[in-house]
Amino acid sequence: MRYTSANEYYRSLFGQKIYRLALDAGCTCPNRDGTLGYGGCIFCSGSGSGEFAADRNLPIKEQLLQAKEKVAAKCGSGRYIAYFQNFSNTYGDEDVLKQKYEEAISDPEVVGISIATRPDAISEKMYGILEELSEKTHVWVELGLQTIHEKTAVWMRRGYELSVFDEAVRRLAGISGHLGVIVHVIMDLPGENEEMMLQTIGHLNELPVHGIKIANLNILKDTDLAGIYQKEPFPLMEMEEYIGLLEKIIRRLRPDIVVYRMTGDGAKRTLIAPLWVANKRLVRNSIEASFRLHDVQQGTDYIAERT
Ligand code: SF4
Repeated sequence: MRYTSANEYYRSLFGQKIYRLALDAGCTCPNRDGTLGYGGCIFCSGSGSGEFAADRNLPIKEQLLQAKEKVAAKCGSGRYIAYFQNFSNTYGDEDVLKQKYEEAISDPEVVGISIATRPDAISEKMYGILEELSEKTHVWVELGLQTIHEKTAVWMRRGYELSVFDEAVRRLAGISGHLGVIVHVIMDLPGENEEMMLQTIGHLNELPVHGIKIANLNILKDTDLAGIYQKEPFPLMEMEEYIGLLEKIIRRLRPDIVVYRMTGDGAKRTLIAPLWVANKRLVRNSIEASFRLHDVQQGTDYIAERT
C-alpha cells in the first residue's frame, strides 16, 4: 500500500525539499466577526488556528524575512511556499488581499502560495483572483472541512453545510491554472465512530481533492472546547489506537491524494490533551515503524499531475 507524502510531492514538483512559511494576512473569519457567529469553531483558538505565523501588523515582506530566519538553520534549499494560515485568508477586501498574495509571490525564493480559508468565504471576485494567481504560480487552497457529518458539524459550530464545501471544491478544482485543493479533517471528534471517520475520507475520494491534512482532535488552551473538556473530560484516542486508524485511512484514501499531515500540530505550549501529540519525534517514529510493519509505504507512484 502506497501513499504520497508532502515531501515527496514537493520533490517531484520542485526537485528539492520545500519549507512552508506561516504568514498572517490580517483577516478575520465570518464565524468570529458576527456574520455567522462570534465564538468560532469550538476548537479554534484566539489566533484563528495559526499559532506559528508572524505578527499580522507587519508587511508581508517583513513577515517573510522573519519566517525565513526561523527556518534558516534547517532549510538549505532557500525555496519556500508562502502559507497564509490564520483565520480565513480569502475573507476581506479582495484588492487588499490580492496585493498581499502578490507581495508574497514576488519574493524570488517563494515558489508557491497556500491559502487557508472556509468554502463559504470565497467571493466571485476572489475566485477570479485565485485563477489569476494560479496562472503565475502554484496555488493551494486549504479548506477546513473536519467532518462530513452534519451532527458533528453543528456541534463544532462549523457554520456551513457539506454541499457548500462540495461546491467550492468543484469550483476551485475547475480553475484553469495550477491550483490544488487541500482539505483539513479532524479524527476522534466526539460522537463519531471509526466508520463515520472513514466515511469522511470516502467522501473526499469522490471529489477533485488534491491533498489532505489529517489531525486527531487536540484540546488547546484558549478555546471553547478546552472549557468543555476541563469541566467534563471525554476519552481521546491513545497514540497506538490513532496510528491504527491512520493506517485504515491511508488504505481507504484515493492514492493520488497527497498526505500533508497526519496528526494535530498545535503549539506545545497551548496543548491540553492528548499529551502524546507533543512528542513529535516519538509519534513520527511510531507511525513509521507501524506503517513499515503493515506495509504502508511512502511512494511516488501516484503523484498528481495538476498543480
Ligand atoms: S473557520 Fe477557521 S478561523 Fe474560522 S472559527 Fe473556524 S477554525 Fe477558526
